[in-house]
Amino acid sequence: MTFHEHKTPNGRVALQGKHPRRPKWSSLPLAGFLSAAPAPMPALPWPGLSPPYTVRTHVGGEFEEKSEDTMTMSMVDAKISGFKGDRNWVNYFVAAKGFMLVTGLPGDKYRLYLAGELEQYLKENEPKEAFQRGLDFFETGATIDHLDWSSTWPIRKIVGEFYRRGNVLLCGDATHVHSPAGGQGMNACMQDAFNLGWKLSLVIRGMANAEILDTYEAERKPIAEQVTEGADRMHQVLFNAKIGIEDRFRLTQDPQWHEEAIRRISGISHNYRGVDGIAGTAVTAEQHLQPGDRAPDIVLSKSAPQLRVYDLCRHCGFTLLIFPGDQAEPGIAAREIASTVTATFGTLVKCVAVHREPVSGFDVDHMAVDREGAAAKIYGLDNSSGLALIRPDLFLGFRGALTDNALLLDYLGKWLLPVAETPSVIAA
Ligand SMILES: Cc1cc2nc3c(=O)[nH]c(=O)nc-3n(C[C@H](O)[C@H](O)[C@H](O)COP(=O)(O)OP(=O)(O)OC[C@H]3O[C@@H](n4cnc5c(N)ncnc54)[C@H](O)[C@@H]3O)c2cc1C
Repeated sequence: MTFHEHKTPNGRVALQGKHPRRPKWSSLPLAGFLSAAPAPMPALPWPGLSPPYTVRTHVGGEFEEKSEDTMTMSMVDAKISGFKGDRNWVNYFVAAKGFMLVTGLPGDKYRLYLAGELEQYLKENEPKEAFQRGLDFFETGATIDHLDWSSTWPIRKIVGEFYRRGNVLLCGDATHVHSPAGGQGMNACMQDAFNLGWKLSLVIRGMANAEILDTYEAERKPIAEQVTEGADRMHQVLFNAKIGIEDRFRLTQDPQWHEEAIRRISGISHNYRGVDGIAGTAVTAEQHLQPGDRAPDIVLSKSAPQLRVYDLCRHCGFTLLIFPGDQAEPGIAAREIASTVTATFGTLVKCVAVHREPVSGFDVDHMAVDREGAAAKIYGLDNSSGLALIRPDLFLGFRGALTDNALLLDYLGKWLLPVAETPSVIAA
């Protein structure tokens, strides 16, 4: 997202910015709100009105409001003509007094947002006139021909105090609500579901104790707090008319602001490092990959059919990458570990030998040839040997040396109940 200082003919200082919008709607972070069904809402702002958090209230939980001043934001879908901006971009208009966003929708419609003191227009006018005044204020050249619908809602900043009460597990906006600035809500909601889904599945199938459900809150609540804080900071730049426009502009020009915004908005900076001992062992320098980080996906075999780390993870359990490295008998070393793990946890842990050449004793589904040794390097293993355990939600759970068998079993024992199953990964 880029911003430029812009002097309008009437001498007003405004920030004008835009970011590219790829044509495929579903691939955008915008997809969350573009796909939301328009609900009829009151035309006037309704600050202070608490939505009915029915389920949360039923299980006895309060939603702790973190922001002192509740602002409102409004949105419409409209047919407009004469817009001077580019409908293929998300166009931001930011002034001391308020904020507008204009972007084309599929077909000939546009979506418009209004926030800041410009919301005052909605108190004085019907939505169509209010949005028209906003468009005129920013001298966009646009005329609203027809309004499909309008919506006004309070911008909240809340993180739920608990994520689980007995059999009730809360997820998504039911646990965190924040400003839409930065477009992170839906992504955070889906990551909640990724984190919870596999744990729930294991418990329901009797393969894990119900206590593992508590790791859901331990892992996700700190992320919700980071997302809420990040959205709030973005919100201050875009919408907060109480901060001088020059100060807001200066903030966006700081290269670190851009770097941080990218990391936060994309969610790349989120991890479960060191969460209550559930993030495994073999921690390296902070800037390198650590247990608790998202497991990197890399190409293992470049020749067709191409094989990636994530291809190995396409199943409903953990994936243990065993790197025998320079062992004299790589097959024997890898098989020893795979046998122990499989004897205890069965097929819930898929053991894959990763080596520069094929190793004996592993079938094609449980072996990956990594000629350049790229995987061991990226997974931070010395001398190309060691163990890397990827959780079902594709986070690195445990990393250790080949000799860390006992630690690995201990770690897996925190998640899984042992199963009496004949080892099936070792080929005859
Ligand atoms: C203007 C705006 C722009 C946004 N832009 C982005 C963006 O660009 N990127 C992004 O990632 N996120 C964005 N978000 C956030 C995103 O839309 C939400 O975080 C996400 O939709 C929340 O998903 P959810 O499933 O948790 O909740 P919801 O989508 O709210 O789904 C909850 C469902 O439960 C139903 N429900 C509620 N109570 C009951 C009940 N008692 N019984 C039965 N059903 C009930 C509701 O009707 C609703 O269908 C935006 C949000 C807004 C407001």
